Amino acid sequence: MPTPFLLLAASRFALLPVLAVLCACNLAPVGGGRRGAAEPRPTAADPARATPTPWRTIGTSVESRPLELRTVGYGPRRALWIGGIHGDETEGSVATELLPEAFLAAGLAPLATLTIVKDVNPDGRAARQRRNARGVDLNRNYPAKNYRPGDDRGPAALSEPEAQALHDLVLELRPEIVLVAHSWGRKASGPRAFINFDGPADRIARRFAVASGYPVVPSTDIHGTPGSLGSFVGIDLGIPILTIEYARGDDPKQCWEATRAAILGAIAPPVES
Ligand SMILES: [Zn+2]
Repeated sequence: MPTPFLLLAASRFALLPVLAVLCACNLAPVGGGRRGAAEPRPTAADPARATPTPWRTIGTSVESRPLELRTVGYGPRRALWIGGIHGDETEGSVATELLPEAFLAAGLAPLATLTIVKDVNPDGRAARQRRNARGVDLNRNYPAKNYRPGDDRGPAALSEPEAQALHDLVLELRPEIVLVAHSWGRKASGPRAFINFDGPADRIARRFAVASGYPVVPSTDIHGTPGSLGSFVGIDLGIPILTIEYARGDDPKQCWEATRAAILGAIAPPVES
């Protein structure tokens, strides 16, 4: 971790030393999260309010599996973590499990409210397949301007209950940062794992890259993804969204450890440089 970053962050968060380390990858304002002089300073953590909520159901899948959500923290910055959309991409599962504990240990509770969606596609995960139980790619079913109906994109945007539930959550929550866990099988060339982004997230993606070692691959370098969550949330709604592409088949625990600081840095409020 670059020492100057650490010192700068530490000077702003003297009472939150662990957070100071984590903020190092996210020094400048990003999106709508700028901290102003009139905003309240972080206060000491409140253990009772910082306890993660139990999982609760926000909808059900085609096969009636619950779509589950929990929150942790009570700070003003609104962050959303999505543990999975494609059923055969489970590399983010340990991150989803351990994120609350790491979030609290980093002193983020007074600074951010983190909403965690365990898995948008439990039917696909149960069947170890990319798509949902009706064969629709849930990452192509959002009402983005570039949506096109199709066999694997559904007959209409939001035709799938899983996509509808996440869509409604995003509109209700209006997060300031969204992170989504995916994985990909490396092609003949290209990185093993990378960070992709949509919307006004180029700076935060570059900082994620510094903290994780995952290179940034812009969406312009990826073949078209009509109706994707990134298209809808990032491009159409203008909300910064990071798509973490872990290496397919890697140990989820190692995936978490490799990206832990980068994820927490993205969730933390931007620190003015
Ligand atoms: Zn994926």
